[in-house]
Amino acid sequence: MRFSKILPAFFAFLLVSALACGQKAPKLVVGIVIDQMRYDYLYRFQGDMSETGFKRLLREGNVIHDGHYAYVPTLTAPGHSCVYTGTGPALNGIIGNNWYSRPENRVVYCAEDSTANTVGSGSVNGKMSPRRLTSTTLADQLELATNRRSKTIGISLKDRGAIMPVGYLADGAYWYDGSNGFFITSDYYRKSLPDWVNKFNDRKLPDQFLDQPWTTLLPLDRYDETLPDDQPKERPFLNTEKPVFPYDLKRITSVQRFGVGESRYGILMSSPYGNSLTLEMAKAAIEGEQLGQDSITDLLAVSFSSTDYIGHQFGPQSVEIQDIYLRLDLTLSNLFQYLDSKIGLNNVLIFLTADHAAADVPGYISPPAGYFKAGDFEEGLRQHLVKKFKKDPVESFINEQIYFSKPLSVDKDKLEAEVRAYAAGFPGVYGIIPLDDFGKCITDPSVCEKIRKGVMPDRSGDLYVQLYPGWIASYYEKGGTTHGSPYAYDTHVPIIFFGWEVRHADNRQRVWVEDIAPTVCDMLHLTRPSGCTGAVIQGVLFRG
Ligand SMILES: [Zn+2]
Repeated sequence: MRFSKILPAFFAFLLVSALACGQKAPKLVVGIVIDQMRYDYLYRFQGDMSETGFKRLLREGNVIHDGHYAYVPTLTAPGHSCVYTGTGPALNGIIGNNWYSRPENRVVYCAEDSTANTVGSGSVNGKMSPRRLTSTTLADQLELATNRRSKTIGISLKDRGAIMPVGYLADGAYWYDGSNGFFITSDYYRKSLPDWVNKFNDRKLPDQFLDQPWTTLLPLDRYDETLPDDQPKERPFLNTEKPVFPYDLKRITSVQRFGVGESRYGILMSSPYGNSLTLEMAKAAIEGEQLGQDSITDLLAVSFSSTDYIGHQFGPQSVEIQDIYLRLDLTLSNLFQYLDSKIGLNNVLIFLTADHAAADVPGYISPPAGYFKAGDFEEGLRQHLVKKFKKDPVESFINEQIYFSKPLSVDKDKLEAEVRAYAAGFPGVYGIIPLDDFGKCITDPSVCEKIRKGVMPDRSGDLYVQLYPGWIASYYEKGGTTHGSPYAYDTHVPIIFFGWEVRHADNRQRVWVEDIAPTVCDMLHLTRPSGCTGAVIQGVLFRG
């Protein structure tokens, strides 16, 4: 008798507790990718950061301290694709931003699509689609799971930063058209811009931003985590003398000449205002698409790209990079406050990572670092092989990969031996690795594994030219830095989960970026993206 009274009451208590603990799924997933963010920036610039941006993520989030990319090349399009497909180039097909396509007999761009048309402007910058992506994405799986009732939106200044995250079934992907300052899309996604995007473009925010010079957020003497402002290994904006604050964007663009598809609006991407614009566009999407306003989970993939342009131009030791991260901190704080007021942060699952990190400027640490002259390497290689074989068997050299003309007209083993003989004396070259036989990969096994995970047989080259750690393309000898290698300075990125059901913890296990998508799928009870090879990261959720 007593039990029969107690048990129903006990189950009722359990039910109420379950409801009080939150709902079964978040209303909105917000994936944030910071373009070219190194893990150390989380800590190096912390002294001048707010309490409500990055530091809030570190304080309340599930922080993965040893998160890495598991493949090469560590570039923007492969990075964004990996985060959302849960796998690397070997299965998602995005083996570079650009790569050599044998069937097309030319270098192709990851998102280009000649059958697609620009929607939202008269330029060619919208002739894009995800068609070269060979896996579904997290957004695709959410659309399939909800019978397309989820709203999934990708936003970035870069087309590839908007398209690769959402993939095939998205409601929309929008990117910045540097030729006119508008956010546009492709008719792959829609025939016309939604009203909210037109209204956003009508606000002409780029014009307002261009009117403001880029000055430092704090007094210049506060930037003691980076080198003094004027450095020879930083690249000034075109037609300016020195890489120093303040940057009068209007004046800089007034003397610039522009090529096809470019205009004065392009410079916003290389200033903190590019990230401010991205934030405003993300907020407009949340409002316009009513994201997170019902019980069906929506997804917003937002990528902040200006950090990458600034990083390339000025490098990790510059006042410019410190300033853009201090400003990005405020941008994130603003986004979190907005999400909290609109949806409630406990209803929003947020993850933040980067598409790749970046190398230290070789000019500051040489030796052991340097500048690899890829053009000279290729030219010398062709001459060497012509001398040996009476013909040039090289079809292309891109992403450190040598593509031979097929079918091979010379003996394969002899050809590889000659490439090795030539490369042995070339400054910066560590070794030559065949991409069709990893038994012959003579380097650290973890590097072999990264190269292998970056190879899709019908898209990749025949040989990979591995550089020594710290060596980057000679283009950056003038200043700035880049990324793309298998080394930790390029692969090590922040991975932080925050918000709905996320347990605060510091995770110091090795985690791969490809583990993010399956972890989110686990949280949402979704089937994983079709190419997914990552695994669920343990200890992110309060439950399980
Ligand atoms: Zn980059």
